[in-house]
Amino acid sequence: PTQAEPPYLRGLNAPQREAVLTVDGPVLVLAGAGTGKTAALTRRLAHILFTRKAYPSEILSVTFTNKAAREMRHRVGQLVGDAVEGMPWLGTFHSIGAKMLRRHAELVGLQSNFTILDTDDQKRLLKQLIQANDLDEKRWPARQLAGLIDGWKNRGLTPGDLDAGDAEQYANGRGADLYAQYQERLKTLNACDFGDLLLHMLTILKTNREVLEHYQQRFRYILVDEYQDTNAVQYLWLRLLAQERKNIACVGDDDQSIYSWRGAQVENILKFERDFPGAAVIRLEQNYRSTPHILGAASGVIANNGGRLGKTLWTEIDVGEKVRVLGVWDGPEEARRVGEEIEAAQRSGTSLDDIAILVRAQHQTREFEDRFIAIGLPYRIIGGFRFYERAEIRDALAYLRIINQPADDLAFERIVNTPKRGLGDKAVAQIHALARAEGVPLLIAAARLIGTDELQARARNALAAFIGDIHRWRDMAFSSPARGGGPSQGDGGGGVPQTTSAALPHPELARIVLEESGYTAMLQADKSAESAGRLENLTELVRAMEEYESLGAFLEHVSLVMDNDALAEDAKVTIMTIHAAKGLEYDTVFLVGWEEGLFPSQRALDEGGIASLEEERRLAYVAITRARRRATILHAANRRIYGQWNSSLPSRFVGELPREHVEEETTMSGGESLWRANWSEHADPFAKAARSEGRGPGWQRAAGKLGGEWSSRTFTREAPRVIESRASAVSLGNKGRDDI
Ligand code: ATP
Ligand code: MG
Repeated sequence: PTQAEPPYLRGLNAPQREAVLTVDGPVLVLAGAGTGKTAALTRRLAHILFTRKAYPSEILSVTFTNKAAREMRHRVGQLVGDAVEGMPWLGTFHSIGAKMLRRHAELVGLQSNFTILDTDDQKRLLKQLIQANDLDEKRWPARQLAGLIDGWKNRGLTPGDLDAGDAEQYANGRGADLYAQYQERLKTLNACDFGDLLLHMLTILKTNREVLEHYQQRFRYILVDEYQDTNAVQYLWLRLLAQERKNIACVGDDDQSIYSWRGAQVENILKFERDFPGAAVIRLEQNYRSTPHILGAASGVIANNGGRLGKTLWTEIDVGEKVRVLGVWDGPEEARRVGEEIEAAQRSGTSLDDIAILVRAQHQTREFEDRFIAIGLPYRIIGGFRFYERAEIRDALAYLRIINQPADDLAFERIVNTPKRGLGDKAVAQIHALARAEGVPLLIAAARLIGTDELQARARNALAAFIGDIHRWRDMAFSSPARGGGPSQGDGGGGVPQTTSAALPHPELARIVLEESGYTAMLQADKSAESAGRLENLTELVRAMEEYESLGAFLEHVSLVMDNDALAEDAKVTIMTIHAAKGLEYDTVFLVGWEEGLFPSQRALDEGGIASLEEERRLAYVAITRARRRATILHAANRRIYGQWNSSLPSRFVGELPREHVEEETTMSGGESLWRANWSEHADPFAKAARSEGRGPGWQRAAGKLGGEWSSRTFTREAPRVIESRASAVSLGNKGRDDI
């Protein structure tokens, strides 16, 4: 390193340097956790900008989360200063897809202000279709169809691309037909779902030479982080875009592939070398993140997987503490212990921002939330949709959506009678019928219905007032007072809303809408325990809007965003799923609920295949390698599930931790390591007694303990029944959204 060396090369090791400087031609960086893959990618971006090989707008840079994109932009900014201004094409696959699609929407029959449906809207729509097709909804649930359609979209398949085998999977071969109907319906609604953001773009690139060439020319350089988790449609998309210039750099780690349930194909790593012959393959081996014990623990677990590409990892970091494995009595104790440990860490100078709790399934967060609220420990939840998924937030958003886009029928449906304005099911059904008959959005149909005498006077008045409100709000939002034009009832949402400088600021608009619609009043009148919190959430929503330049931008953000902690200023402990923790690092990490049936999940165990178990193991690897200095793994002996106590076995992954890197501790007596204990149920009098009385094993243990001394002998090797598969379904429920 010489003095004249640019700042973005400082401190890099030789292979990292190569990854930064080899900018022309295809590059694949294949390396383990914490080896600086993301760091190298960021420096590479800085290098391209610094040497003026491309303008910021000529670089396509794909990160896994919006947060990662922000981070990268920030880091590059520090390295090259203003040159980073712009970078419109730095983001997640979905956010980039949305941006491109808005430019070319008409090529797939949409308007540029299309709505992005969330999974809830999507299911509602599918439900309607299933009913309209006279299918038995119980037999063929919307959720199943949604899953299939997502899967097809992830594989880059339009309805026309499906083969008989694909279509067979739903309603005796009617899957393809329903998929086609769904796509048609989306078009009418001027909407698309998450899968469409990429699928539509792929279709456009495949069928429209001009557009393809435009982007192939535009993107001089393409950079992709977390490459191991790209799915087929993403891969095809990248390949098309890179085909011309071939300046594509992908970084990834096959051991961290954890999204196969969403269609990710780790084979894309192998395909890369085939599709881009002569690609430079760079391996990074020095880990800069974790202590040797943490790395040793993680490596020991992942070594149990087969078919790995294989990597060496070493670190110069001081040896540090061993990974701690802590066995506790039950879920509440687990939360209590973690709370205590965090407070202790805080006292010894660790900032709460440097501490994370990683859960396998979303529902696990509640226990910690309850505890932390009780002890006043500030926390944030990342990766869930807790905030934007709340009913009052969704209602408020529906108001804003229909103001932004009057053809948004799903939004209309949600709020037409919320708060109650005397519109019965019958009136709503009439609106639907007219909308169908005339092929217009519900809002237009409703306006037309008012002009007839089909509605009862009360409903007519209510509806007229509601529609009048929407138009008035729209005018406030989009037109300058000078124009003063009346509501344009014929506007079906065709026009792109223009925010003029004189239009009402959108947070102010939201406040007015919530007031005038009676929504706030409705909550104020509600004397239930939750209503105060709901009002606070609405205030929070308005506050969140201030960060966005327009209503449209805010709504786009809401559809895309995963982490709702943008407003957080104070230090907070982070609670999130392992999936959401990908690519991140924390000084101190708590890995909780390492029990059979929870992690590995019951679903993975039920499926029974080696593949699903190996994916769980990769999750364990990702989880451990998030820690820089301290990792604590917890497992509870009892869990209460839906009011029932169940006993649980420590996760097999606990057993796979190499002993030399681990320090065990249990709050239960006996001292003998629980997870290495091998007591059979027959040796356990409590288990027998409880079974003959028809009680669960959790009770046995409680009884055992209450009855005086109890030892690890009462630990039974019952088949784990900890978490029913619904638990893992919950954690996967954010499908399609937690990567954006
Ligand atoms: P993951 O697989 O988890 O995504 P990664 O390979 O992307 O990990 P980074 O997050 O880029 O790794 O880097 C891990 C840590 O090591 C970061 O704190 C980063 O700043 C640091 N780091 C990377 N390269 C170097 C280096 N050459 N010198 C010092 N620190 C480095
Ligand atoms: Mg990374």
